[in-house]
Amino acid sequence: MRSPHYADLHCHSTASDGSDAPAVVVRRARERGLHVIALTDHDTVAGVAEAQAEGARIGVRVIAGTELTCYVGKREVHVLGYGLDIGNAELAEHCARFQEARIRRAREIGEKLAAAGAPIDIDRVMADADGGVIGRPHVARALVEAGHVKDFDEAFEKFLGDGKPAAVSKMEIDPRACVDVIRKAGGIAVMAHPALGNQYDIVSELIAAGCVGVEVWHSAYDATATERLGAMALDHGWVRTGGSDCHGSIKGGEPILGQVGIGKAQWEKVERAIGAARA
Ligand code: AMP
Ligand code: FE
Ligand code: FE
Ligand code: ZN
Repeated sequence: MRSPHYADLHCHSTASDGSDAPAVVVRRARERGLHVIALTDHDTVAGVAEAQAEGARIGVRVIAGTELTCYVGKREVHVLGYGLDIGNAELAEHCARFQEARIRRAREIGEKLAAAGAPIDIDRVMADADGGVIGRPHVARALVEAGHVKDFDEAFEKFLGDGKPAAVSKMEIDPRACVDVIRKAGGIAVMAHPALGNQYDIVSELIAAGCVGVEVWHSAYDATATERLGAMALDHGWVRTGGSDCHGSIKGGEPILGQVGIGKAQWEKVERAIGAARA
């Protein structure tokens, strides 16, 4: 199915918890008629070089992105970075530290699952992630395969979701530190999906930490969310971004790449913001 949008600025690959290799994501973008995508894997830029090489070959512009995890108190917040220098040493160091923390966390999740009566082979889960940043979706897939739950959603409802028996927080870093990593790598920071988990009350805190925009369009929003965030952004002059947050088919079903995104004129505004950060 063709995308009605020009750009999809939020998607994942096997570099984190998506089901498809970066080049496959880019080929799908091309098939769906997208002109621009940003690859925004969790806490890594490891898929960007492959995606950009494929994009150059087949004519899709690939923005070097990431989705960094941080915390406001105990609440997990995601910060998107766009227009990054993927060779930046501090960015690499941040991602490496996060990756180690995620491996420790995966082992802890494995222990909690065993205690909760749903043992899985966490070493195999990590091997299956194949070097990608390990996350709960990988564990959810293993829980389904082991027959402990009937599907991906039940894995989160019963075990992995926030507050459930096998939930473990990640590396607790504050928004400003994440934004600084993104800015030092030449990028712009945007607060990801504020409507998820009802994070409207901390949008201004994220802006104060250096985010220049908010994600106004997202596949998990209802119409109210987009209206509310769009109005906030226009009032304050924040950059408005949008994307599908496609994870391929890791949850089952057809990949939603390109189903949410932004038009050409809106993309050009984002592009100018990225350019201004680099100037
Ligand atoms: P992690 O980064 O390991 O904490 O895993 C977070 C990822 O799990 C998110 O990016 C989503 O892809 C997925 N996820 C989180 N919560 C849920 C949920 N309740 N149902 C389905 N998927 C979820
Ligand atoms: Fe994810
Ligand atoms: Fe996210
Ligand atoms: Zn995401």
